[in-house]
Amino acid sequence: MKNIILLAPPAAGKGTVAELLKSRDGYVQLSTGNVLREMAQTDKQLNEYLKTGKLVSDQMIMEILKQKLATLKDKNYILDGVPRTVNQAVLYEELADELGTDIGVVIYLNVPKKELIRRIESRIVCPSCGASYSLINPELQPKKENTCDYCDNELIRRKDDTKEVFEERLAEYKAKTAPLIQYYKYRNLLTEIKANNPEETYQLIKKVI
Ligand code: AMP
Repeated sequence: MKNIILLAPPAAGKGTVAELLKSRDGYVQLSTGNVLREMAQTDKQLNEYLKTGKLVSDQMIMEILKQKLATLKDKNYILDGVPRTVNQAVLYEELADELGTDIGVVIYLNVPKKELIRRIESRIVCPSCGASYSLINPELQPKKENTCDYCDNELIRRKDDTKEVFEERLAEYKAKTAPLIQYYKYRNLLTEIKANNPEETYQLIKKVI
């Protein structure tokens, strides 16, 4: 199996697909968003910053990546939400070279804006493990109401999952992350998938890896 970079606008379902690849195929998920939210529990400034929907610095992200990737030797991993800028992509390639790992494939999940808003407004997450559920999609509901399937925690809304902050996150995505689509296309690493539902998306990714 190949390592995976998941590239997608906010709320396209990166975390949900990563969860399937984790539980069915033994992938390790590395979500910089989850790591940052965990750090924000004891860092007030970061907590406030994440509410704005703006990207944190490339330097901060690369420090997280460096630390986490060093623990993943010989494991297949999914980068969920990183790289998010061309600079991060270049630095990640250098890091992967240093660590002797292959960056693998890039999966671009294409979802229309209207659907992204629908997903954001119905998303609930586990504050502990970051697993994501939907209030409206029957495929994505927790087994027990408002409770995480994996750690029994009460599910919450993410502070940046509002319509207003979503617009900022989408603007950041368009300006800084979307250029990565061309970047990876030119390198012949990109597969585009119309991410209509999690199972179909998972099956399409399986064909690539
Ligand atoms: P996510 O959970 O991927 O939606 O990320 C939540 C927030 O964490 C984003 O809105 C950014 O503020 C920050 N973040 C996560 N990953 C990155 C990244 N690779 N580069 C910059 N900021 C990031």
